Amino acid sequence: MNFLEQHIVNEGIILGDKVLKVDNFLNHQIDIVVMKQLAEEMKCRFAGVEVTKILTIEASGIAIATMLASLYGVPLVFAKKETTINSTDDKYTAESYSFTHQKTNVVSVSKPYLQAGEKVLIVDDFLADGYAMSALTDIVAQAGATVSGIGIAIEKGQQKGGSLLRSKGFHLESIAIIERMDHISNTITFKGQEPQPMRRKIGLCK
Ligand code: 5GP
Repeated sequence: MNFLEQHIVNEGIILGDKVLKVDNFLNHQIDIVVMKQLAEEMKCRFAGVEVTKILTIEASGIAIATMLASLYGVPLVFAKKETTINSTDDKYTAESYSFTHQKTNVVSVSKPYLQAGEKVLIVDDFLADGYAMSALTDIVAQAGATVSGIGIAIEKGQQKGGSLLRSKGFHLESIAIIERMDHISNTITFKGQEPQPMRRKIGLCK
């Protein structure tokens, strides 16, 4: 198991067979050491690829994206899920169904922050059915910029997002790919590996 898979086994909680809760290092409390390792691993996997901007979507992608932007020395832009009264710029927009919020959001990036010709590395915490990543690749295309690659911390390989993005020709790198989660046996199976017992279970401390 790699460092991220190990963290998932030690600290993640399987909710049903589709949702992995990793609130204590990625989605609520943020483990900066893990974020830094994720950014370094992503930079290594995209070695030789030109990147002028990091793009993510609020909220949980921002921590990884910040570390990655710091390694590349380029700006980070996060797409917004809600419009606010101070968002007066023209925007690129795309619809995205939110798996965790169970609703369709219009995600947006203000036009000044994504320019034609930019080489954009897109990053997020999870890839499930690919709605969030499809919205971001769509926004990059609207801007006349290019997707350099897509870096994901946790891909849920049992959902369609990974195959959808790879079939469209995107260079997709996921640090942990889950093939199966079983909340009855409380085990998780990463791509090409044997099932692993999770250390934590919903309702129990450890
Ligand atoms: P997609 O758009 O690929 O269907 O879903 C990806 C988005 O949904 C991610 O940005 C992530 O926030 C959220 N998500 C999807 N599956 C999970 C999951 O199992 N656990 C958590 N914590 N978030 C998820």
